[in-house]
Amino acid sequence: MARKLIAGNWKMNLLRNEGTALARDLALRLARTVDPAFDLLICPPATLIAPIADAVQGSGLLVGGQDCHTARDGAHTGDISARMLADLGCSHVIVGHSERRQDHGEIDLVVAEKAAAAQAEGLVAIICIGETEAERDQGRALQVCSRQIAGSLPRGATAENTVIAYEPVWAIGTGRTPTAADVAEVHAQIRAALGARVPSEAAGIRILYGGSVKPGNAAELLAVPNVDGALVGGASLKADDFWAIAEASAG
Ligand code: PEP
Repeated sequence: MARKLIAGNWKMNLLRNEGTALARDLALRLARTVDPAFDLLICPPATLIAPIADAVQGSGLLVGGQDCHTARDGAHTGDISARMLADLGCSHVIVGHSERRQDHGEIDLVVAEKAAAAQAEGLVAIICIGETEAERDQGRALQVCSRQIAGSLPRGATAENTVIAYEPVWAIGTGRTPTAADVAEVHAQIRAALGARVPSEAAGIRILYGGSVKPGNAAELLAVPNVDGALVGGASLKADDFWAIAEASAG
């Protein structure tokens, strides 16, 4: 299995000076680390991608988008294409985050089309899935995640162009996390669902856990079988916290 991927989702936070300072801080730490045991990715808001990609060039710090359109270009006011992200130097893009699914009505089919658009431009699509609290309470978490994998994974998904992020909706920004046993159960199920969809690629596709990952719980969550990294929201806005999570992934 590849090195763990520690990805930061900055969401709609930080202005130019703050964002570039945070990115430079992380890039410096990474550049000073001999043979880091993890891949480090930040996904700033679209407004900051260009200055940050320029500022961290050559450091090894990866930069990604938080969303992309399904189309290559065209009449889509306010949207951003995967091609534009790639043009700025992005390597990854998050698609299907639960906040996009909720705020913008994105359904699995749209998420799959966005992932395919990203992959067509050479980007790695980080496809987010996860159950709501009501679905977990009804005992439907595994079923929901399997359905989302089946619906959100594009046909051409490979270990190189796809990452899955399991983010239970009730754990995002709440300070609550599933138990290690629950994470292990869902990640094993996701691996099995990937096996049903893309048998030859399933073992190599990285599956991240996301939802209230902090320095204090990162080591335990990242040690769970089939957890190949973390997608970090709030804690990725502080260099010390995000770096501590990355270091925890080294075991
Ligand atoms: C997220 O939104 O992807 C996320 C995991 O947020 P947080 O870490 O703040 O729960």
